[in-house]
Amino acid sequence: MKMKTYYWHIHHLVIAEPTEDIEERKEYVRDFKPTNQVSIRLRLMTPVKDQDTVGKARKEYNAIRGKTRKEYEAIADKAWKEYDAICDKARKEYEAIEGKAWEEYEATEGIAWKEYEAITGKAYEEYEAITGKAWKEFDAITGKAYQEYDAIVGKSLEEYNANLDILHQEEHPDCPWNGKTIFPVKRTD
Ligand SMILES: [Zn+2]
Repeated sequence: MKMKTYYWHIHHLVIAEPTEDIEERKEYVRDFKPTNQVSIRLRLMTPVKDQDTVGKARKEYNAIRGKTRKEYEAIADKAWKEYDAICDKARKEYEAIEGKAWEEYEATEGIAWKEYEAITGKAYEEYEAITGKAWKEFDAITGKAYQEYDAIVGKSLEEYNANLDILHQEEHPDCPWNGKTIFPVKRTD
């Protein structure tokens, strides 16, 4: 397995990333990027000096994200199974009523089409009400769980980025990086 090394600005919109082969990226930049961007891209594409700090920060972020994702997925999975079970049961109930009404309609002259429609229509409304309610519950549970996931991971990413920003200021003092890009738009007016 090749070693991953963090470099500043492998891509112009990213502060730092790990790479296994920086030469391949440099070659790509030379071959395919606009000529007026090549030298600045290559100049800023330097290895992070403090690999340890950035590696640890990334590992921590990845660990939190992985753990939080698993927790979210467990909640969503459980909620989905419950929703699915409710729908399944409701559908079977509807189908039983519909089947019985159909049999009666076909076997005897005792039940009119209108009656069949009334019975199955009502049964279908109940089916829809049950599954609609179950969907809302599923949606509420997973929505809340996702918000929690997003908040935790977002906070963790902010911390990771804050650590990188500090390191970046130390290691790249003369860098045009503005927090978003190494090519900040110059005002021309
Ligand atoms: Zn920089």
